[in-house]
Amino acid sequence: MTHIDITKDDQKVFDRLKSTGRITHGLKKLMVNQWNICCVCDTEIPKGRPAFAGYDANTNPIFVGACCANHLIEFATPTYWGVTHTLNVGIADSTQIWRYMDFAKFVAMLSQKGLYLARADRLEDPFEGASGLARREGEWDAFYLNFFRAAVASPPFGSSVADLSPEYIESEAVRLLGP
Ligand SMILES: [Zn+2]
Repeated sequence: MTHIDITKDDQKVFDRLKSTGRITHGLKKLMVNQWNICCVCDTEIPKGRPAFAGYDANTNPIFVGACCANHLIEFATPTYWGVTHTLNVGIADSTQIWRYMDFAKFVAMLSQKGLYLARADRLEDPFEGASGLARREGEWDAFYLNFFRAAVASPPFGSSVADLSPEYIESEAVRLLGP
């Protein structure tokens, strides 16, 4: 449980602006990336204090602490770090996915009606569950770009991917990494 600690500075923001609840994809992404770092002054928002997600005078999404809340023209929602964010990646129902789990785990899931959950120290991805993208983005991007190159270059048996040229692999890896 996060202890909520609203100071006078925070209260001023709540008094000035009513939250609209309008969270665009861009704002949601910014919230996840920033996590607990004010995007204007780059300082950490103390645990338990609200971060204010919304839009500036140019309608750009911003995620700020009370420190920089004067930039906020529309206030979408407060967030408190320690609370779990949900990521909606927007995958169509028709999308084929692979590498999500191996076949043995898939069969076990169906036959035992249970989910396989790896112990945290056995996860392959060193950034699984990590936070702090705002400060480590370069390091993470380099890791995932390499991961995607290897994944694209080794499609599962029987898949219909015909083109595995270096250009294709690179463009797919960059596409998967996203902007
Ligand atoms: Zn700030």
